[in-house]
Amino acid sequence: AKELVEFRNLKTHFHTSAGIVKAVDDVSFTIREGETVCVVGESGCGKSVTAMSLMRLLDTPSAGGEILFEGRDLLKLSNNEMRKLRGNEISIIFQEPMSSLNPVLTIGEQISEPLMLHQLLDKKEARKRAIELISLVGIPRPEVIVDSYPHELSGGMRQRIMIAIALSCNPKLLIADEPTTALDVTIQAQILDLMRDIKEKFNTSIMLITHDLGVVAEMADYVVVMYAGKVIEEASVYELFREPKHPYTKGLLRAKPIINQRQERLYSIPGQVPNPVDLENNCHFHDRCEFCMSICREKEPPLRKNEQGHKVACWLYEEEAKVR
Ligand code: SF4
Ligand code: MG
Repeated sequence: AKELVEFRNLKTHFHTSAGIVKAVDDVSFTIREGETVCVVGESGCGKSVTAMSLMRLLDTPSAGGEILFEGRDLLKLSNNEMRKLRGNEISIIFQEPMSSLNPVLTIGEQISEPLMLHQLLDKKEARKRAIELISLVGIPRPEVIVDSYPHELSGGMRQRIMIAIALSCNPKLLIADEPTTALDVTIQAQILDLMRDIKEKFNTSIMLITHDLGVVAEMADYVVVMYAGKVIEEASVYELFREPKHPYTKGLLRAKPIINQRQERLYSIPGQVPNPVDLENNCHFHDRCEFCMSICREKEPPLRKNEQGHKVACWLYEEEAKVR
């Protein structure tokens, strides 16, 4: 399939009083048409910042690189051109549907908004389309729901409404940032099913951000693993689960889910993501890695591709480390 999005050496850095935070540092990967790419890693690894950089929703613009969308660099578009893409060609859904929905507008009004803005439908047509979309995301009695308010719906229904809003203009790319983390397990499975149906029906590309390898196994065509602002491994989902290479990825796969009060499934690897301020040019995983060698503390491992197209950034797979 054709490339839809190409991140090329993206750098999104924040200048803080403590120093420079390289939230996203030299990140490159591709999302193809009709493909689901899962971006995985613990929180604070740069997954959400990558998505927000694409949407251009950060106060700090990206400092380097390109984000090509159908060949056009999003980082170079004017605010006005970007506004035309957002919610139209590219949509995003977040973890907390309640905070993203407007409590004083009806569901119908909120679904209609992007339709009237981008597709220039009139009020009556937009309402009709809103009812279709509510039904598309599997909510019964759409003609009643269209006039209800967010607080009258369950969490799972609100997330379906967020998906309906995101889909209203038939986006080419749907970004979903931990879309099911706040939901219980049954509802989570239903929302993932819904997203899979949508992808099949409309050939939508999905960039799915998650820390949950179970979600990855179910949803991904292709997987990008991030750690401390870098891509440290990427491969097709089959290849990644067949033969994970990076010690961090292996750790994620081994880690046991912990159920906390909010029913999030958190995975635990010993140690912590390093302080993102003033990271050195070495392997950022070195102080958590059981295979750490001296080169790992001194030099950053490059991301290299093998014959299967599997990419990994780790000195274990480099001749250079063995020579030393
Ligand atoms: Fe471990 Fe070294 Fe590989 Fe980093 S480069 S993951 S420290 S073996
Ligand atoms: Mg996040």
